[in-house]
Amino acid sequence: MTERRERRPGKPGTWGPEESGVLVGSRKGAIWLGRLCQKRQGEAASVDFDWSWVLAREERRGDVIGFWHTHPFGLAGPSRRDVRTMQAWVDCLGKPLLCLIEVPGRIAPYLFGSGEEAGRSLAEAQRFERGRLVVVERKAS
Ligand SMILES: [Zn+2]
Repeated sequence: MTERRERRPGKPGTWGPEESGVLVGSRKGAIWLGRLCQKRQGEAASVDFDWSWVLAREERRGDVIGFWHTHPFGLAGPSRRDVRTMQAWVDCLGKPLLCLIEVPGRIAPYLFGSGEEAGRSLAEAQRFERGRLVVVERKAS
């Protein structure tokens, strides 16, 4: 029996494997420049990442800026579980963090800060080669 690897768009849940990663980088005003680390495929799409890796990285480099994961089922907003986990990360690291959710065709960026219930939707996020990411908080006026 051959393994089926091709994607079957149009059938919910079969867009592809769910993936997640940690974003490291820096923020320059309203622009965030990041790189995906610890990319992996998981059972459930969530922002429940490897806590020990993230904490060690933040301790050593202080450059964790957020998290990226896919929603193969297409919901472009954070799930309740995503929100809870993001709030825990913000409390833990003590700074605002990005939550990037990639759905078929685009990346939806959110910013979680302390004291904020849910994430704030940002203007734009783009992924480039080798896991580079650029996030723009708002369009230039
Ligand atoms: Zn999610």
